[in-house]
Amino acid sequence: MDEYEIINSFQKEESTFSGLEDKNGEEFLGVEGKLSDEFGKPIGKHSSGKIFPKNVKTVYKLKEIFSWLEPEATKGKPSFGFGDRIGLATPGHIRAVENFDVFPVFAQQSIREMTRTNRKPEAVLTDAVWGVFREGYKNGFGADADHLKTKEDVEKTANAGFKMFTCDPGDFVNNVQDMDEDSVYKSFKKIPESDDLLLKYEDEVYKSENFEFKFNEEDVIQAAVKYYDAIEHAGRMFKWVEENINGEFEYEISVDETAYLTSPKEHIFIVRELLDRNIDFDNLALRFVGEFEKGIDYKGDLSEFISEFKIHSEISQKLGSYKLSLHSGSDKFSIYPVFRDIIPERFHVKTAGTNYLEALRVIADREPDLFEKIFDFSLENFEKERETYHISLNINDVVTLSEFDSNDYSESLNRDSIRQVLHVNYGAVLTAKDNSGEFKFYDDIIEILRENKYLHYKYLNKHLSKHLEKLTE
Ligand SMILES: [Zn+2]
Repeated sequence: MDEYEIINSFQKEESTFSGLEDKNGEEFLGVEGKLSDEFGKPIGKHSSGKIFPKNVKTVYKLKEIFSWLEPEATKGKPSFGFGDRIGLATPGHIRAVENFDVFPVFAQQSIREMTRTNRKPEAVLTDAVWGVFREGYKNGFGADADHLKTKEDVEKTANAGFKMFTCDPGDFVNNVQDMDEDSVYKSFKKIPESDDLLLKYEDEVYKSENFEFKFNEEDVIQAAVKYYDAIEHAGRMFKWVEENINGEFEYEISVDETAYLTSPKEHIFIVRELLDRNIDFDNLALRFVGEFEKGIDYKGDLSEFISEFKIHSEISQKLGSYKLSLHSGSDKFSIYPVFRDIIPERFHVKTAGTNYLEALRVIADREPDLFEKIFDFSLENFEKERETYHISLNINDVVTLSEFDSNDYSESLNRDSIRQVLHVNYGAVLTAKDNSGEFKFYDDIIEILRENKYLHYKYLNKHLSKHLEKLTE
């Protein structure tokens, strides 16, 4: 009796490599032929060869054998990031992206997400690469080390094999709006090249179809005090990436998680300063007008967003060829058509939380009791977990699960307040342990997702296709 089923098989150098699954849906690699010796000690045998566990060692070896398992830089194509915090979602993402002309970034995780879920960069990449292997997806994919802040962040993720590096210099952005005139001026004078900056920008005019901007002294001072240190940090980080990567990589700079929005003049200042430092960046994530809260649609004045966005897109076209990147891009259905219409070839969008919520949709369908427990736990922890997220929800406005039939908890996942309560708690839920040191939820979640993997893929496909449709069609 064979205890493994073959999902997919590939040949290389007279060896056969098979993705296998056991009766619980856990996946393994089977290797038959001479290359099977390269994987170390097998954990078993099967008609398809020696059996190896799906882990970092196995998958990194596999990546050396098949070049289509190596992540690439997305240079110049419209692209979409599918953050996967659990590590079982890539096959669902592949089902979605196969129908659209968008370059997928299957491994995308910020340092914050990795810390919260106790995952290492190698584990994030392993899960995505395995998903690519089991699906036989050969069209190329990216790997984004998101929201990097330090040299150590760069080294860890570069060594793990990431190809896209998102620098978050947010800690170096000064909230000039909160400073009095005197301290703004003093801060400006501390910039070594402050006088040169005034000469460089003052009376400069930037013109395009929708705008004409002329910098005055105050504009230069404000932009410099706010962003100069951040730009310097982005320059340092670019060098760290260059030192740690052989060959092509993609570099993004994100100032999206800052208190105040990025004005068009500040956008111009940031880009000119980056270019003058020869920082060859590919994407830029600005802090746009309105609220981009996690896991729900845009909140704000859409027509104001559109007119601002037109200006930002013209600036980006005039000054460089970089893409504008949308962070917290999950479920921003009213924003995607704006990106599609204005920058169809030059967008990057990042999603993460919405994928976790689709995993919970499987739990809601298949194990309503567990879903209830996860929700109650998330509600209890909401005030604590929300702190590092940009969320305006009042806990008293959260809809309770008692409003839904337990056969229909999936429906609750269409409510904004429930989505946000669950969203901010992914780290707490996935790592919570009971007094005896056992996972409270994690093992059960993994088990249910393995047993219902095709339902999980179906939900991901459906929901992410909805995103991609609005971005491209
Ligand atoms: Zn971000």
